[in-house]
Amino acid sequence: MAYQYDHILIRYGELSLKGKNRNSFIKQLLSNVKKALKGFEGLEYEKSHDRMYIYLHGENADEVCEILKKVFGISSFSLAIKTKPDMDAIIQACKESLDLSHPKTFKVAARRNDKTFPIISDQINRLVATEILKNSDWKVDVKHPDTKIVVEVHADAAYIMTDRIPGAGGYPVGVGGKAIVLLSGGIDSPVASYLMMKRGVHIECIHFAAPPYTSQNAQDKVMELARLISCYQGDILVHVIPFTDLQLAIYQNADESYAITLMRRMMMRVATKMAEKRHAQAIATGESIGQVASQTLESMEAINAVTNKPIIRPVVCMDKVEIIDLSKKIHTYDTSILPYEDCCTIFTPKNPITKPKIERCLRYEARFDYEKLVDRCVEDAVSIWVHPTTDQSEEEDLF
Ligand code: ATP
Ligand code: MG
Repeated sequence: MAYQYDHILIRYGELSLKGKNRNSFIKQLLSNVKKALKGFEGLEYEKSHDRMYIYLHGENADEVCEILKKVFGISSFSLAIKTKPDMDAIIQACKESLDLSHPKTFKVAARRNDKTFPIISDQINRLVATEILKNSDWKVDVKHPDTKIVVEVHADAAYIMTDRIPGAGGYPVGVGGKAIVLLSGGIDSPVASYLMMKRGVHIECIHFAAPPYTSQNAQDKVMELARLISCYQGDILVHVIPFTDLQLAIYQNADESYAITLMRRMMMRVATKMAEKRHAQAIATGESIGQVASQTLESMEAINAVTNKPIIRPVVCMDKVEIIDLSKKIHTYDTSILPYEDCCTIFTPKNPITKPKIERCLRYEARFDYEKLVDRCVEDAVSIWVHPTTDQSEEEDLF
């Protein structure tokens, strides 16, 4: 892809809209970009109010580009050659940006960011094109060029670029606070996690395991899902909650039709405590209206009633096919459909209630000391860091 490119020029995403927060957004983006590219030690970074530049210093441009495509807060980026803002240097750099021995069609598109530069854009285009035509068999095609050479002239430098490579959009992860995502082994919650991160929210995940009813395989699958989505954030901390005792208590004390609703309320109580402990402002799930019995508005009302934290459901109004498309795009689908049991699937009642009554939930819950069990879930959680590039993970002692 790159011929003689020595730079990458990054254009900011929606953050350009965010007046006052701009500086902290740019700072976060720079820190996220550096973290994502920490394996490339030769890179050098520079930020300005409307662009960020990476000096490649010989690092592999294609590999760097692949990683940049997953960093939120970038609207687009381009490979670039940086040169002096004078016409000879610009022409020379444009020639270097092409493999002149392999002729294709091209078009030059110049822009003067510095309006004091004495040559207008049209004229720059013409001068550059003439030199290329003179020195090679390349041909001009203004409508459908194989290569578009973009020239941006600033006061202190000129940048010669290839076409724009689309960025991931969204906000830099970290500018939107922190949320605890309930991560199951299914299709929806990894997609919900991705969408939270895309809005700039740093996530930690919580997974409810019910050994021996759920297997190590099921937990490994969740860890793999967390690893797959961690490339959008850096590392992700996953809290695995031993949920068996609480689930059995629900089955002993409640009508079977209410088991799922009560289980969800307990999950929310555990998640709320974890959110407080981890200074997270919100909880997120992969619920979607109507998808299963426990995902009616009445159920959501009964579930929300146990917490004051906002519960965010990023896929709540999406069709299943839309969620599946997204899960394929972020490469979680193939792992999500592996057939391992989830704690919900094991204890699934034959006729789950679709319109649960909160009074009945409270009546069942009064029959046992659930608070103690909820506390124990949080105390006995095993917290594990997962990393994007390795399948290694390590436990962290948080409490
Ligand atoms: P998913 O595809 O995300 O598993 P689903 O369609 O299977 O969703 P449910 O099993 O009803 O739906 O779960 C709804 C949501 O509850 C999930 O998206 C997830 O956020 C949360 N959840 C369910 N089971 C677990 C679990 N074992 N651990 C953590 N969160 C869970
Ligand atoms: Mg599920």
